[in-house]
Amino acid sequence: MIRMKFLLAFIAALAVGPLLLPEFYVTLLNYIGLYAIVALGLVLLTGVGGLTSFGQAAFVGLGAYTTAYLTTVHGVSPWLTLLAGLAITAAVALFLGSITLRMGGHYLPLGTIAWGISLYFLFGNVDFLGGHTGITGVPALSLFGFELKSGREFYYLIWAVLLVIVLATRNLLDSREGRAIRALKGGTLMAEAMGVNTPRSKIVIFTVAALYACLSGWLYAHLQRFVNPTPFAIAQGIEYLFMAVIGGVAHVWGAILGAGLITILKQWLQDWLPRVFGQSGNFEVIVFGLLMIFVLHRAREGLWPIVLRLFPAQNARPRVADAEPLPRRSLPERGSVVLEVRDATKRFGGLVANNAMNLSVRAGEVMALIGPNGAGKSTMFNGISGVDPVTSGAVSFRGERIETLAARDIARRGMSRTFQHVRLLPTMSVLENVAIGAHLRGQRNFVHAALRTERVEEARLLHEAALQIERCGLAEHMYDAAGNLPLGKQRIVEIARALAADPCLLLLDEPAAGLRYLEKQALGDLLRRLRDDGMAILLVEHDMDFVMGLADRVVVMEFGEKLAEGLPEEVQRNPAVLEAYLGGVE
Ligand code: ADP
Ligand code: MG
Repeated sequence: MIRMKFLLAFIAALAVGPLLLPEFYVTLLNYIGLYAIVALGLVLLTGVGGLTSFGQAAFVGLGAYTTAYLTTVHGVSPWLTLLAGLAITAAVALFLGSITLRMGGHYLPLGTIAWGISLYFLFGNVDFLGGHTGITGVPALSLFGFELKSGREFYYLIWAVLLVIVLATRNLLDSREGRAIRALKGGTLMAEAMGVNTPRSKIVIFTVAALYACLSGWLYAHLQRFVNPTPFAIAQGIEYLFMAVIGGVAHVWGAILGAGLITILKQWLQDWLPRVFGQSGNFEVIVFGLLMIFVLHRAREGLWPIVLRLFPAQNARPRVADAEPLPRRSLPERGSVVLEVRDATKRFGGLVANNAMNLSVRAGEVMALIGPNGAGKSTMFNGISGVDPVTSGAVSFRGERIETLAARDIARRGMSRTFQHVRLLPTMSVLENVAIGAHLRGQRNFVHAALRTERVEEARLLHEAALQIERCGLAEHMYDAAGNLPLGKQRIVEIARALAADPCLLLLDEPAAGLRYLEKQALGDLLRRLRDDGMAILLVEHDMDFVMGLADRVVVMEFGEKLAEGLPEEVQRNPAVLEAYLGGVE
């Protein structure tokens, strides 16, 4: 409520601002708005998606130059040039994105610097774009027959555009697609295993960020009425990144805060520092550098979370509404072979982590895979689920060969898994984490999300997530941040997430580790119920009492090879197993 009032007050202040403020401040606010539009794209791309771009200024330039050229030389209407600019930018972003987004680590930022510089020099060196002098005589915009000639009039357009895209971005993030985007930051492995097409998610946010930048450039050209290459240089690209990072990398309102702070501070420092030092020079750049280091050191998430703490949210829990249940997959016939691994070998350089492994799992049984640490159990899981494919051999799932499929395509066929080293998104709620598991059970895309036309589907997905959380006994933690739960319970969240995918084969890698006695019993009961429903379960576990009381069959591994296989009691009596596993018990 306090936040809502604050937001309304902010919008009211924005509305009356230009009526009261002197020209200078209106101009400043116009620039803040234009910068914030670009920074908002970076919040999505860098803050949320974890992809750093230094090249956004070049996309601003694309928007500005497209309209400047087409309106002045060909007399095209500015509203049409906006569409042209967006189309060109989308094409360029798709092209650059498809090349650069595949690069990991520092290669991606370097790539963005490279094309940022290239586009800048293109603007400055092409004759028909006016070279370094640029293009003058860009016409004013007219809206409903009304010419936006002064900065005061233009102000309302800029801020209306900004508020609309803030809203659309918020909507996008609070959706199925948004959860997939937020899952990118911790590495793509978990998201892919949950069925998210991560290259597509990356290209989407990259293109959206580029389109925001283009929009800002189009507005800029018609506000300024001329363009030249300078504002689209790499230095400006770096400044946009400053704005997003200082404001609050992962918060949409942080873009406005960051753009506001940097723009005002820069203005103020440009006025004052030369007086302080008694000589002219770009001293503000030095101060910015220090400020940046300070913020990175003290407030990694930027300044917006600090603002939020001043206005605590009261009971802002999303309520899970009753919704129509999602359709279920038909399970394979009980007793039929669901998973079949034949001669699977996995090499890591010289190390053979799995050597000619054979195993099978049937519908309605719990198969336990046991063996000492380093035996190759998790490697086997990765090979089966496509997270890290086998080097040779065959993996068949429901009668289909899958060893060459991507993890997300295997997930789509009804296999779901947990990870030995828990892979949750720690700041997201348990509910949202589990909902990622249901990703493949929704279809609505990011356009639906931005326009909020996927609410019925979204309610069904969240409802499903809530059901699985209750099923796993975590109802009381539904709205807690997943990272605040004890590790044992985080493992159960992973099981709920896997179940939200409606699988027919579950791979559980050490699910009972870190659980207390009663929690282990509850987990055992849950797995028995799932088995009785016809689920096939492949389980890695170290607690022998837990395994022997639950498993129908056991496969024992040592040094990447199968040592024994059979009923729990047979395996327990097998001398080779006792020798290897327990170090030789009397
Ligand atoms: P387990 O799960 O049975 O404890 P793992 O499957 O994790 O064993 O590991 C089996 C062997 O493979 C270990 O020697 C481990 O160091 C090695 N290994 C696992 N993953 C990799 C990897 N990505 N690169 C190189 N070696 C690996
Ligand atoms: Mg392991």
